[in-house]
Amino acid sequence: MVEQTLVLIKPDGLSKSLTGNVLTRLSETKLEIVASRIVEVSKELAEQHYAMLKDKPFFPDLIKYLMGGFHKKKVMALVYYGDDAIAKIRKICGATNPEEADPVSIRGAYGRITTKGVYENVIHASTNPEEAEREIKLWFAPDEIIMDLYPVKTVKGTFEKKIWV
Ligand code: UDP
Ligand code: MG
Repeated sequence: MVEQTLVLIKPDGLSKSLTGNVLTRLSETKLEIVASRIVEVSKELAEQHYAMLKDKPFFPDLIKYLMGGFHKKKVMALVYYGDDAIAKIRKICGATNPEEADPVSIRGAYGRITTKGVYENVIHASTNPEEAEREIKLWFAPDEIIMDLYPVKTVKGTFEKKIWV
């Protein structure tokens, strides 16, 4: 099935200069990049992104991690598109816990668990189509993606722009 998925290279990945390595690994999938941007992540964006984990004990540190509180304050967000995009990307990422991840996966090769217990695992990738849709709409405006992935409507102001409907 042709799908799209959200990838984030988290602040540890950017701070450790792993951007090229991660993108090279992801290119093994032969999927297409249809959007990318570098983002300084606000508290609101981080909390919305991880909203389903808000009751977990590690949530405050996870938000600080995504906002760059432990590293540089930037995240690289990308949308990958193509056949079985979600599963193909998740496989190369490896398991959530970097100590349990396949050593040749991105998280297995580059991730770590901090002494505070945060999984600094370099990369985020959506786990299913519903999560991908929610996350892509959270991180990107329609005009920042080179394909029409989801329905949009055009709003008229000084300039016309598209917004997610
Ligand atoms: N995480 C953590 N400790 C845990 C579980 C998760 O620090 O026990 C962090 C980790 O950075 C992970 C993120 O929270 O990537 C989101 O967790 P999720 O269960 O959604 O894992 P993922 O989808 O990233 O594999
Ligand atoms: Mg997840």
